[in-house]
Amino acid sequence: MPASEHNIIVVGAGLAGLRCALHLLELGHPVVVLEAASEVGGRVRTDLIDGFRCDHGFQVLNPSYPAVRRWVDIAALDLQQFAAGVLVRREHGLVVLADPVRAPGMVAGSLRSGVVNARELAALLRWIGPTLASPRRTISDADETLAASLDRAGVNGALRREVLQPFLAGVSADRYEATSARLSKLLVRMFALGRPGLPTDGMRALPEQLAARVRARGGEIRLENRVELITRAGPGFTVHTAGRSEPAVGVVIAADPVTACSLGGLAPPEMRGLVTWWFGMDEQPHDLPLLTLDGRRHPGVSPGPVWNAAVISNAAPSYAPAGRHLVSATTLLDAPDGEAPESAVRHHLGEIYGCHTDAWELVARHHIPRALPAHPPLTPFAKAVQLEGGGLYVCGDHRDTPSIQGALVSGNRAAAQLSAHLSGR
Ligand SMILES: Cc1cc2nc3c(=O)[nH]c(=O)nc-3n(C[C@H](O)[C@H](O)[C@H](O)COP(=O)(O)OP(=O)(O)OC[C@H]3O[C@@H](n4cnc5c(N)ncnc54)[C@H](O)[C@@H]3O)c2cc1C
Repeated sequence: MPASEHNIIVVGAGLAGLRCALHLLELGHPVVVLEAASEVGGRVRTDLIDGFRCDHGFQVLNPSYPAVRRWVDIAALDLQQFAAGVLVRREHGLVVLADPVRAPGMVAGSLRSGVVNARELAALLRWIGPTLASPRRTISDADETLAASLDRAGVNGALRREVLQPFLAGVSADRYEATSARLSKLLVRMFALGRPGLPTDGMRALPEQLAARVRARGGEIRLENRVELITRAGPGFTVHTAGRSEPAVGVVIAADPVTACSLGGLAPPEMRGLVTWWFGMDEQPHDLPLLTLDGRRHPGVSPGPVWNAAVISNAAPSYAPAGRHLVSATTLLDAPDGEAPESAVRHHLGEIYGCHTDAWELVARHHIPRALPAHPPLTPFAKAVQLEGGGLYVCGDHRDTPSIQGALVSGNRAAAQLSAHLSGR
């Protein structure tokens, strides 16, 4: 597609930019996407290394996200799903905590685990019950930190300390339970409703599917085109990359949160970071398709730097070559131990799984200081996407929730608003 003042330019081909471009095309607008990197996907990418698929940071696709159900061909991704439960390292070994409805075969282990007691389970149900019944009400509820909300509900025993807190710490990259209670409840609801999984070709299959649809509708995605500046030119814009200037009738900035805010003249959001380590091995430490948490964390006691781990290839066999296995381990960058060296990560994994890790091969390490925008209490679920002056919009997970759902919804919202603006509505 030649440069044209009738084009809309979308800056960034992450999930938000791709959904935005596709919706603009659906609404009849010609679109060019300018992407700085050499491939699409942004934070959702996968490296293929010696037959191992290593996503850029441990992440999963939850098929119960409404935006995913609506705009993604989930069947085409051939999801390999985790079981509905977690594996918890306790002082005397590993125990399974399973959802009694969706993994009935694992229930006996949950009851024997010693993690669950009736009082705390009842408190947890009081805490999450209203959100399970009506997510809409949660969105408009009063808000506080996750810590304050769990304290107030009386969720303060082993279930919180050994399961809920480490699990949500990994999801929000926040070990301090400082994230919005409203968002945390909605995330727990999503995990309660859906069984997350990994596409057979890796998480990158998700943005690649969206990019293929953009191209099929005549949209152009230009890789290795970093946008440096956006200026107004008459009723439209000029978008400046290193080598050229492009005219545009409207622009949507779908870059990562920090760059998007810089290009759009907004205050940058606080970002949360993590590190994911990927190890390959001949013998896996166990054969369950479950996320593993270290339940031996007590106030003031850290059993090691790893907040969650998984034998990824138990859930997703396509992530390892035949006869081999892949383990992920994630540390959090909100404290110095997030930068723990390989020896400390191996040692902690050995303790979690009760095995030797010396023979494990380090396949990859992804250091991601800007993994997720922070979402403290009272952060709106839908921030404005229109920037001052008309015709200029911003989208991405920092405008909604820090998730695949949030990125897709924000992209769709920006496209609809820009289209309405151009139609004079
Ligand atoms: C390690 C990790 C684990 C996660 N786990 C989950 C999970 O399990 N479930 C979940 O729902 N979400 C998860 N997320 C969050 C989810 O991946 C993000 O919310 C989502 O991918 C954000 O998409 P985006 O399009 O808003 O931004 P990005 O993915 O950041 O896309 C921005 C794009 O803009 C491009 N760009 C930047 N600057 C420029 C420029 N100047 N010019 C042109 N292009 C530019 C970038 O290269 C990138 O392609 C995880 C994120 C990380 C990092």
